[in-house]
Amino acid sequence: MSFFPENTEDRQCSRCGTYLDRYDTALMVHARIGYGSIHDTDILHLILCPECLDEFIEECVIDPIIPEEEYVGDSGSEVDFR
Ligand SMILES: [Zn+2]
Repeated sequence: MSFFPENTEDRQCSRCGTYLDRYDTALMVHARIGYGSIHDTDILHLILCPECLDEFIEECVIDPIIPEEEYVGDSGSEVDFR
């Protein structure tokens, strides 16, 4: 089940507001936020364009990227790649 509609006409980057189609959507995440955040137990519904995703990754102190060829798990049910 996807929380993201197939129709991409209304899809916008959460960070910069750019309208996106399936080919320029870099990341979509739909997940419940854990305890400790001011948003705990709310739902995170995040869509990022490639530029905003790259900038977010650059801001991370610990690199969150695992190269595809090094990853040996499933891709997770809370992340939707389109
Ligand atoms: Zn963006």
